Amino acid sequence: MGIDITAKEIWFVTGSQHLYGADTLKQVALNAKEIAIGLDASDHVPVKIVFQPTVKTPQEITDICLNANSDRKCIGIITWMHTFSPAKMWIKGISVLTKPLCHLHTQFNAEIPWDAIDMDFMNLNQSAHGDREFGFLMSRMRKNRKVIVGHWKNGSIQKKIGIWSRVALGWDEFQHLKVARLGDNMREVAVTDGDKVEAQLRFGFSVNGYDASDVVAHIEKISDSDLDRLLQVYDESYDLTPSLKAGGEKRASLVDAAKIELGLRAFLEEGGFKAFTDTFENLGELKQLPGIATQRLMADGYGFGAEGDWKTAALLRAMKVMSFGLNGGTSFMEDYTYHFTPEKAYVMGSHMLEICPSVADEEVACEVHPLGIGGKEDPVRLVFNSPPGSAINASLIDMGNRFRLIVNEVQAVKPGEALPKLPVARVLWDAKPNLEIAATAWILAGGAHHTVYSQALTIEYLEDFAEMAGIELLVIDTQTSVRDFKDRIKANEAYYHLFQRSF
Ligand code: MN
Repeated sequence: MGIDITAKEIWFVTGSQHLYGADTLKQVALNAKEIAIGLDASDHVPVKIVFQPTVKTPQEITDICLNANSDRKCIGIITWMHTFSPAKMWIKGISVLTKPLCHLHTQFNAEIPWDAIDMDFMNLNQSAHGDREFGFLMSRMRKNRKVIVGHWKNGSIQKKIGIWSRVALGWDEFQHLKVARLGDNMREVAVTDGDKVEAQLRFGFSVNGYDASDVVAHIEKISDSDLDRLLQVYDESYDLTPSLKAGGEKRASLVDAAKIELGLRAFLEEGGFKAFTDTFENLGELKQLPGIATQRLMADGYGFGAEGDWKTAALLRAMKVMSFGLNGGTSFMEDYTYHFTPEKAYVMGSHMLEICPSVADEEVACEVHPLGIGGKEDPVRLVFNSPPGSAINASLIDMGNRFRLIVNEVQAVKPGEALPKLPVARVLWDAKPNLEIAATAWILAGGAHHTVYSQALTIEYLEDFAEMAGIELLVIDTQTSVRDFKDRIKANEAYYHLFQRSF
């Protein structure tokens, strides 16, 4: 499966008008092309940037927006007003545009040519006011977009374009994503449930139910050679506990785990699913709760949510697409247990089994232990620590009248001691600004116990994502104060009551 972004494009659309004559428009097009080529060549921008002819009339603007909508390669447009481009011309186009929009407020030249500047130069380089006219209309239309300000050759500006382009990839993924639920929700759990119709309207992804027998049907078709090949991968890739090695007394558990991986993978491939959920309460004939299978599928780019958590499964897939090729992993996560000391409090994040080895440090052990719940056989799992470093935790919840995305900045730290008896993968982190404020704010916001943990992405990605999706975002970081956070929640309640969605 994996993730392939090579076919995706972002269109660079430059606005102008006929007022200035052919020579100016010729120069506008040349300059715009140079910027588009420059951004396309930037190491910070992973998606192909495609130059488009200057738009100068309402019809040209509407046409490019309609073309962007229907072009499957196009995942968003960057707009820039080289000259003034009277913004009423943009009303029709923007009102039909369904792809994400980034408004790049830049200028072809970085510096004013003090000795040479004349009125021709002034007529040509008007983005300082042309982009303000465009900005007014976007605000007047309540258009969600990202605004990036600065010279286009500047690395920090290119980084912001790169972040937005990665988020557009994640958004594009949502438009095609199919999430398979094996079983329903863990019984009586509230936060992992929600409105799947509303989610499809808002985000584009679909969520449909299957059961363990759909996977078992694929397990029955596994060939001995495929099974042997996967067992060899396990043998070579992980530090296997002795009982799981060939000839060990628990080797049969590893064979069962490998069958579950092959069956689950075949089920997902056949259905075109790139995210899934399961739950220990609906395992049917599966012998073990999928542990190593789910972990390895996540490492290959699949989204996953435990206990039927389809929102986290979808978000994880989108965040894996966004972070494609970046350093650091992205995993399903759960706030599991605390370390409260007088000086400092930490969270240990983990799950019963399903932490993605993309966030592992070097050593990955493969072990088998009882689960303690679910009444099935002991599941095989990958056990590891995660390296220190900055990361985020993100949770997507359904508030009834809207979706809310909550993001907390964290700093992963090395556990003070070895954890010789802990049979699951884990991460220890310091939540920003501290656990007291972070957990107070998180709980006031209604953030789930399940999250997506990412070492690769920063809050800016999810800020852009919330903007594209038109959903509420609550950030918990070094700036957060509980009093302000409560006010923000109340203000948002009013805002989302007043402004109804528009699809
Ligand atoms: Mn859980």
